Amino acid sequence: MEDVDGNRVLDYVLSWGPMILGHAHPDVVRAIQRAASQGTSFGTPTEHEVTLARMICEAFPSIEKVRLVSSGTEAVMSAIRVARGFTKRDGILKFEGCYHGHADHLLVKAGSGAATLGIPDSAGVPKAFAGQTLTAPYNDMDAVKRLVQKHWRILACIIVEPIAGNMGVVVPRKIFLRQLRTLTRKHGILLIFDEVITGFRVMYGGAQTMYGLKPDLTCLGKIIGGGLPVGAYGGSKEIMDMVAPAGPVYQAGTLSGNPLAVTAGIETLKKLRSSSLYGKLERRAVQLAEGLGQAAGQSHVPFYQTRVGSLMGGFFTEGPVVDYTSAKRSDTKRYAKFFHLMLEKGSYFAPSQFEAAFVSTAHTAADIEKTVADAHQVFKRL
Ligand SMILES: *Cc1c(COP(=O)(O)O)cnc(C)c1O
Repeated sequence: MEDVDGNRVLDYVLSWGPMILGHAHPDVVRAIQRAASQGTSFGTPTEHEVTLARMICEAFPSIEKVRLVSSGTEAVMSAIRVARGFTKRDGILKFEGCYHGHADHLLVKAGSGAATLGIPDSAGVPKAFAGQTLTAPYNDMDAVKRLVQKHWRILACIIVEPIAGNMGVVVPRKIFLRQLRTLTRKHGILLIFDEVITGFRVMYGGAQTMYGLKPDLTCLGKIIGGGLPVGAYGGSKEIMDMVAPAGPVYQAGTLSGNPLAVTAGIETLKKLRSSSLYGKLERRAVQLAEGLGQAAGQSHVPFYQTRVGSLMGGFFTEGPVVDYTSAKRSDTKRYAKFFHLMLEKGSYFAPSQFEAAFVSTAHTAADIEKTVADAHQVFKRL
């Protein structure tokens, strides 16, 4: 990435996740140009939209039907509306530190920028909306069981990031997701996996394929637009048939399934489907994670690392980090110093402890080596 002053940096933010092939991948750019020359929006589905929808259904066994929208926020908002329409219940349960976009009822104990700026419960959200949202600590099945026992009659859904990526990266206990699946099924509550980050990041088919679990609804975004605005939500035919015009849950968008955006997505997914890319991402991610870990170790800086594939976190605390409370034990002042010093040296990590680091297929082994060498210098000064 190059800024207005001509400083070149290695980018580990990658637009917060979408740019898995790096910036301005020539094949993606060419595909967008070709699509643009055919017209940029029609307000009616194009062949490309259907192609992307098919690719998503093929990648995710839990998705039989999918609706494209223009952002992750829209995808989650709509999936929750479908869950409420389907179950005829209003309540939702989310996890502290998980971020699901900026819809009113989801800005409750939210992660990402909301956590960074100290406004996890945003102003401007009516109490009545926030009141529909229950929260539990991530990875805490006892808390979930207690809440469900008491409130299941009003709960439409439980929504979770199957790997949390918005309070830094927090990995789920395997039993946690499995028990969420069992418990929700037992009480007629829909289980929504927000895979906006994890979708095509941790593997083709997302965290649900990796963990062998089938949520009722899945939300996607980020990578599926290849750097342009696309979101999607989908699930079984029975549930998705709630969406208008087939059913009574209304949702629409003038620019949804936009031909440029879906073309960038298709081209990106095509590349990812050639499986060797995930192997490459894994190698680069291991190289970076191990390098940073060694740099921290040599300088005796507490640095608790988490990683699934090319989605990774490093908390400035002894750890373990399993939820938002333990994530918040991080020394964020130290993180800020790390961020600024690394940026000065030419590596751009997220300007917040509570975000993820990503690598792309464009990062070379030499790039990572440079970042690691710089990190050795930087950790000494922390
Ligand atoms: C980024 C993100 C969203 C919101 O997507 P936008 O495209 O920014 O609206 C929702 N859920 C998760 C898990 C995300 O990481």
